Amino acid sequence: MADSLDIVRSVADLRSRVQYWRDQGLRVAFVPTMGALHDGHLSLVRAGLELADRVVASVFVNPTQFGPNEDFSRYPRQEERDAALLDGAGCHLLFAPTVAEMYPAGFATKVSVTGVSEGLCGGARPGHFDGVATVVTKLLLQAQAHLALFGEKDWQQLTVIRRLVRDLDIPVDVVGVPTVREADGLALSSRNAYLSDGDRKIAPALHRALQAVAAGLREGKSASELCHRAAADLLAAGFLSVDYVEARAAADLTPLDRLDRPARILAAARLGGARLIDNIAADPA
Ligand code: AMP
Repeated sequence: MADSLDIVRSVADLRSRVQYWRDQGLRVAFVPTMGALHDGHLSLVRAGLELADRVVASVFVNPTQFGPNEDFSRYPRQEERDAALLDGAGCHLLFAPTVAEMYPAGFATKVSVTGVSEGLCGGARPGHFDGVATVVTKLLLQAQAHLALFGEKDWQQLTVIRRLVRDLDIPVDVVGVPTVREADGLALSSRNAYLSDGDRKIAPALHRALQAVAAGLREGKSASELCHRAAADLLAAGFLSVDYVEARAAADLTPLDRLDRPARILAAARLGGARLIDNIAADPA
């Protein structure tokens, strides 16, 4: 186990550690994750270290954001490796609660964000964003950090979290961090571990499809035609199915057909045993 990174498992211990730092006038950043850490997660820790004096990460594979036929039971769990990576990145504290600590007997509350949770991954994974919104609300209230960092890789999730923090007056600054990619464009993801060698070669087609839509939008073409073509290209490249390829307004995820405001092109598709998601920006000239 790592030397200087401390691990706490209870909300009470997390709170007292953060309160101790706050009492000293230190700024605290929080990085929630589901573990199986990669350089994308560590870039959130590094961004936290730039903006704050202490960084707390959490590792919790949240059962309520997985559907009944999804990958909760096979999701990679590797706490010792995660702790070593966090320690190496300079993270100060790891909060790794049990399911019983997060959802004690009798737990009955759900946070549900309308609007931005609907469609895209919300359409493909019913109940997913209720699970995300509930656990992130709990984690933010538990950690009581000054700021919390989330990846742009999960743009809809970031938008849902910005909305709930505003709506519930949670006193934390939400910071979005750009997506970390492999050299061939594939966004780093814990779920890339599900890809076979053959599928790994096909996977960068997802990022290329998003780039083609963004380029077409900048040429003035219609998003619906471009996204339709991109979905067909993914199937031709070897993806098993496409949940969606869509262009939305970056700020509030409302539908958009022309590049008349800052946009985000978002996609989710299945390849082998993995469901991959990605998104990129497309801004008007
Ligand atoms: P996860 O463990 O997949 O729930 O992700 C935890 C946090 O890391 C979320 O805020 C993600 O958006 C972020 N994240 C995941 N992959 C990346 C990546 N490739 N680049 C930047 N952030 C990421």
